[in-house]
Amino acid sequence: MIVYALHCACGHEFDQWFDNMADYDARKAEGLTCPSCGGTEVSKAIMAPRVGKAKAEPAPMHPCNPGGCANSLCPMAQMAS
Ligand SMILES: [Zn+2]
Repeated sequence: MIVYALHCACGHEFDQWFDNMADYDARKAEGLTCPSCGGTEVSKAIMAPRVGKAKAEPAPMHPCNPGGCANSLCPMAQMAS
């Protein structure tokens, strides 16, 4: 089992358990919904890797689709809004 931090297009954040990464992909394909608003534009939140290094490299920006990104800092999200 694996837990993913998810967020919807409105910015609601919630955790969801999956059997594995393939299960996440399958259930996302079927349509994950936000428990707060029922929105179906749900994606994995970017989780900072927790490693033992004193100074971790900043996580690379993930590409996102216009309208499908709930990151308010994402230029694509601002373009779509
Ligand atoms: Zn929501």
